[in-house]
Amino acid sequence: MPPFRAPRGTRDLLPTERSAFRRLEAVAADLARRYGYREIETPMFEEAAVFERGVGAVTDVIEKELFRIAHRSDEGESWALRPEPTAGIVRAYIQHGMQTWPQPVKLTMTGPMFRYDRPQAGRYRQFWQFDIEAIGDPGPAIDAEIIELGRSFYRLAGLDEVEILLNSIGDAACRPAYIAALTAYYAPHADRLPAIERERLHKNPLRLLDSKDPAMAELNAGAPRITDQLCDACQAHFTAVRGHLAVLGIVYRLEPALVRGLDYYTRTAFEFYIPGRQGQQQALGGGGRYDGLAGLLGGRPTPGIGFGLGLDRIVLALQAKGALESSEAASVAVVVGADPADTATRLRVATDLRAAGIAARADLSRRKLGKQLESAAKERVHFVVIIGDELADGNVQLKDLDAGSQQLVPLADLARKLASGDKSHRHGVGESQGPAGRS
Ligand code: AMP
Repeated sequence: MPPFRAPRGTRDLLPTERSAFRRLEAVAADLARRYGYREIETPMFEEAAVFERGVGAVTDVIEKELFRIAHRSDEGESWALRPEPTAGIVRAYIQHGMQTWPQPVKLTMTGPMFRYDRPQAGRYRQFWQFDIEAIGDPGPAIDAEIIELGRSFYRLAGLDEVEILLNSIGDAACRPAYIAALTAYYAPHADRLPAIERERLHKNPLRLLDSKDPAMAELNAGAPRITDQLCDACQAHFTAVRGHLAVLGIVYRLEPALVRGLDYYTRTAFEFYIPGRQGQQQALGGGGRYDGLAGLLGGRPTPGIGFGLGLDRIVLALQAKGALESSEAASVAVVVGADPADTATRLRVATDLRAAGIAARADLSRRKLGKQLESAAKERVHFVVIIGDELADGNVQLKDLDAGSQQLVPLADLARKLASGDKSHRHGVGESQGPAGRS
């Protein structure tokens, strides 16, 4: 057992997994650009109050999972690693006066989030999200556009089957009455509730609805539904969102129990699942409208909507389907040589190739040619450049490992030959050609 391991709830992304993440990041960046989102980068930690106020104090994310940072100097400030991106981005929107920019301000960010939760399969203490936020647009059309963007992302990621769950959770006008109705519904059953749900009944009764405790299933099935109690404005908004989704041909399932864990959501709420895998820790991603958030963080009331799609669970789902592309060799070509001692020539040829844009590795060992060739083959590179006596005439041998062919090539033509050979390998039969290309 090695003395040090990655901290509990975190993991190292080894090259195959990292390249799967890289591909998802590329798909995310390309889609975000096509839909008019620009990149933002906020700090990985904020004043804890940004999350406490924004996300809501009585939520799992804050009560149980906020990754607080202990620090030595007593500056009277309290920090926390970001558990989600929206609060930090809206904080930045307010801080930088983005309300004076043309609205909506459409921002995207992909990066790690942190929740100090009990780790288990698909639940990590550090995980990655692709985030989209459109701030300053009250909808309803943009709500549909963002849901469609999420669906496009999953399709391009290789998960065509992803299902969309949709709900409206009302707003400050209609939710209080609904919460009162919900409290009244559960109150007579309070003694029967599991302890944690009993506590939630007093603090945040909405949370009971998405309880995954089997003891709650029957009770929850009869609970009043928010969609039956929406105020006229929220009802009209929800109807219009659904109308826009219909125009786009987006199929979804209405899920009245979908309330989302965070306080700041209003009206439209949605989540993405693999069919049949709906349950705790199974959501692939989710989002919703947060018209009250800017106000909570000290800004002017500003509507907004966004989503956070977890990348880790996508990679797990692709792995489970056997659809994770095996990682590419780091190099296109390896430069080997007949003279084991002549590392300088191999290094020089590889350096020239790299200057010409080719991913080339020189074998810098002093092993015999046979051993150098063996390790190049193991690396799954497409080409080997063999330096031998022909160099005296300005030539090298170029071996195509896939085709099993070999030819004499003038050193001056080598980079061009490798570039066109690499291209034909990349576009060869059986390669996946996602719009974002291969990473
Ligand atoms: P949430 O803000 O909780 O709805 O999270 C949005 C998405 O981030 C989820 O649907 C997951 O895909 C992902 N996610 C949230 N928490 C974790 C976690 N602890 N580990 C891995 N992925 C997570």
